Parts: sequence; C-alpha cells; structure tokens
Amino acid sequence: MKEYRINTKCVQAGYTPKNGEPRQMPIIQSTTFKYDTSEDMGKLFDLEASGYFYTRLQNPTNDMVAAKICSLEGGKAAMLTSSGQAANFFSVFNIANNGDHVIASSAIYGGTYNLFAVTMKKMGIDFTFVSPDSTKEELDAAFRPNTKAVFGETIANPALTVLDIELFARTAHEHGVPFIIDNTFATPVNCRPIEWGADIVTHSTTKYIDGHGATVGGCIVDAGNFDWMKYADKFPGLCTPDDSYHGITYATKFGKEGAFITKCTAQLMRDFGSIQSPQHAFYLNLGLESLHVRMKRHCENAQKIAEYLSHNDKISWVRYCGLPGDKYHELAKKYLPNGSCGVISFGIKGGRPAAEKFMKSLRLAAIETHVADARTCCLHPANATHRQMNDEELLAAGITPDLVRYSCGLEDAQDLIDDIQQALDQI
Ligand SMILES: *Cc1c(COP(=O)(O)O)cnc(C)c1O
Repeated sequence: MKEYRINTKCVQAGYTPKNGEPRQMPIIQSTTFKYDTSEDMGKLFDLEASGYFYTRLQNPTNDMVAAKICSLEGGKAAMLTSSGQAANFFSVFNIANNGDHVIASSAIYGGTYNLFAVTMKKMGIDFTFVSPDSTKEELDAAFRPNTKAVFGETIANPALTVLDIELFARTAHEHGVPFIIDNTFATPVNCRPIEWGADIVTHSTTKYIDGHGATVGGCIVDAGNFDWMKYADKFPGLCTPDDSYHGITYATKFGKEGAFITKCTAQLMRDFGSIQSPQHAFYLNLGLESLHVRMKRHCENAQKIAEYLSHNDKISWVRYCGLPGDKYHELAKKYLPNGSCGVISFGIKGGRPAAEKFMKSLRLAAIETHVADARTCCLHPANATHRQMNDEELLAAGITPDLVRYSCGLEDAQDLIDDIQQALDQI
C-alpha cells in the first residue's frame, strides 16, 4: 500500500473496506471466535497461524485501530491496552524482570512515576530517575550491568519539558538497550520519535487521540529496529524459549519486527488482561480521524494564549515551548516543528491565594484532572493532585504554589483569552 502523508493516514489507515463491506470500521463486539476443527484452533494457540480466538488476546477492531496508530508512528507492530498506565507498564515489564534496572527521565507523568518508583519497585525492578536535561555523560553514568531500558516522555506531563530524543536513544543503544518513549502529549501528528531513534512508543490514548474525554485507553508501538538477539543475554524473555508457549523463542520466530508485540500480547495480555473494549477502540478511531485537524487548533490556541499571558503583568512566568524565550524552544524547533501540544503552564503573581481566586473566577475553562480535551480545562496542582504537599515539598517536586496547568481546547482563542482576562481582573 502507498505510504500516504500523516493527515491522510489519520483518516484512512488501519481499515480499508473491500467491495460491499461497511464504510465505517466495524465493531466486532464478540469475546470469542468460531472454528471448524480443533486442529485449526490448536494452530492459533501454538502461534503457528494468525487469527482470533479470544478478545482478551486479540480482537479485529482493536487490531485495526492499533494498525492505524502503528502507521502514524511509522512502527512495525502495535497493540491497544486498557489505559496509558497499562501501556507503560507492559512496555517496561515486557523486557525487565525482578533484579533488573531501568533508567527513566524524572520529568514524567505522576502516574507513571508512581508505577515505576513504587509498584514496579515492589516487583523487584529498580529505577534510576535522571534529569530530562541530562548530558551524555550524566546518562552514561546511570547505566548498570542489569539496565534493560531507558524511558522518557516527548513532552512531559505536566512539566512541559521537551526531551532530546536523539541523545536518549543513541545513549540507550550504545549500552545495548532500547529507548521507550511516551508520546502522549505530542501525538504522532507533531512528533514521530521512531524517526529520531526511539524503539518503543507508548500512548495514553485517553488524551489527544481520543480527544473528547470519552474513553480511557493506551497503545504500544514497536519500531521493529531493536536487535534483541544481538543482546540475547540481556533479554532472555525474548531470546530463550517460552515454556508457557510451547517453547517458542519470540526473537527467532517473529524477528526484530514482531517479537516485542507478540510476546507482550501472548504473555502479558494473556496474564494481566488489560484489554481495551472493541467499542472503545471504535471511539478512538473516530478521534484519530480528526487528530491532525484538532492538534493544529489545540496548538494555535495554546500559542495565542501563551503569548497573551507572557505580556500580562499579573502573570509571573509562562511555560510553553512555542514561546521563543522558553527553555525548550530550541529542542521544540527540532523535534516539534509543526507545533507541540495544547497544554501550557503559568504562575500568577500573588502565589497560592491569587491562583485560587483565579481558578474560582474562570467561567469557560473548567477545573478538571484531565488534559488534552476538546473543551478547555485547567488545574491548580497545589490544590488538587499535589494537595498533600506543603509549599516546600511542592518546590522540590518542581511545582510552585502559583502554578496553573491550562489545557487549551478547541474553542475560539479570543473567548478563552477574555475568560482568563476577566478572572485575572478579579484578583
Ligand atoms: C495520562 C497519561 C498517562 C496515563 O494514561 P491513562 O490513560 O490515564 O492510564 C501516561 N502518560 C502520560 C504522558 C499521560 O498524560
């Protein structure tokens, strides 16, 4: 099939109906699939033939949507998961076991940080958190003999740092491990980390890909470039026989392009069952069909609002990599030339009480623990997600008491600016 441009892929990839078939992607709302003989089914269980037998492992609707995201990211294989949390858990747990070590950027989503630093640590996997601004030398110093992966976020939620993807990927490869990147905030419309050397890309599709605050979901995409067999001693799960699957060795049977996602499906999805429902996958596809149109508008609105805020004397600082003075502007020019995301953060003069008053006074922007929605939403972390911390602890977590996270929706930018202005006037 011809390689179309990204905008066309958003609309068309993943499902191409044949003569007389439904125009819209069908929802295969079935837990199970029928076979004529036990032999036919046996071949599926042995991974000798490909086909569907139980939706916990694979479902045609989910596969079509995964194929679309795979195509958008420029990957070789992909799978949907029930949430972004499940995607990030699987992406690491598929290659790191009890006794292993993983390097992660410290600027990552709070839920992912907790998953790594608390829950996976209990499973015996040790994490070293490094600055997203690490130099090559600082990254090199974090590696241990048992390091199995490096993890980061393209644009971190909520820190809004931009990662030097090439540097992280190259360093990971020099140490013989893959680079995993959560591309939720940028989406494949604005950045395709595989083009910069990333091996595994994850998403919380709950955010821009769904885009309407309707469904929680996740996705994992494999670039198909990492040579597991070259580092067979590091990745026994992929490079030695799997007794729970009739002694299959994923890396030899499915090669570089298929090993990671096949193992992740056949083992982790089989055992943990964090599947996405086909109905939800259908909603995701509706979101994907307009992703390229929406991302452009999210970014335009964010740019206008960030510029307006940066000239407002009630605002002490603004973080948005689209602003020329932003610390990450140069990296954004390289990795996000067409726009970054719709989320900005800023500080209000007068600290915590001023931020509280501001939040209370907004009429159009809603207070929500969510981002990347068609409707503008915002959060005052000091009073919500980070409520249990005092001002000192907040600062240590990189969150100032005056910080407001503002996720620009698809409304008219001037209405959003007017709303912000009237709220600032009340402080
Ligand atoms: C929201 C989010 C997640 C977690 O995704 P869920 O779908 O809520 O489980 C992971 N990474 C990033 C960057 C996120 O923004």
